Amino acid sequence: MNLILMGLPGAGKGTQAERIVQKYQIPHISTGDMFRQAIKDETALGLQAKSYMDKGELVPDEVTIGIVRERLAKDDCKKGFLLDGFPRTVQQAEGLDQILSDLDNKLDFCINIDVDKEILLERLTGRRICKSCGATYHLVFNPPTVENTCDKCGGELYQRADDNAETVQNRLDVNLKQMNPLLDFYAAKGALKTINGIQEIDQVFKDIDSLLTSLK
Ligand code: AMP
Repeated sequence: MNLILMGLPGAGKGTQAERIVQKYQIPHISTGDMFRQAIKDETALGLQAKSYMDKGELVPDEVTIGIVRERLAKDDCKKGFLLDGFPRTVQQAEGLDQILSDLDNKLDFCINIDVDKEILLERLTGRRICKSCGATYHLVFNPPTVENTCDKCGGELYQRADDNAETVQNRLDVNLKQMNPLLDFYAAKGALKTINGIQEIDQVFKDIDSLLTSLK
């Protein structure tokens, strides 16, 4: 079961990734997590990655493809893997094809959790946080009983600066621009599977699960 999981911020990719790896017992390979760990461990890779990550830029393709190549060659990937945050460029996608072919393996699916940009905007800008105790609410999905007031401590709620509409819109646009060529790449290979992400979390997982059972 060799998978890529894609989805815009707020689409529920993290939640679904956790469920997939738990049910199917395959390693969750997140390049973002690998870079963060390397920075924490102060390895040469970490040092290299840090300068890009600090600027919010992508780590160069050769470096990223290199760490994925090493990771996918490990024994625990023999029964499958879930790639998360990789590939992010078409060059990385081509690199992945090469890695898999070198390992005599192939990708099964690229799963895209699809949620409309407008809905993501609503999801991501509706978050409110209590100034006093830090409890989180959502104007639509988990509203406080009394407007602008924390249910737990009565504190005032506020919106984080990076949850404002303009910043969120920007973040989504950047991600879309990055993701669209990859969706085209996998669609052209017949490997793209689009899952409707505008459903209850359990239903989204059921849809992914039925897709994966077809592989067994
Ligand atoms: P993430 O946690 O997936 O959002 O990744 C955090 C940061 O790690 C990104 O902003 C990039 O700087 C770097 N990164 C993670 N995955 C990749 C990738 N596939 N290609 C290049 N840079 C990456």
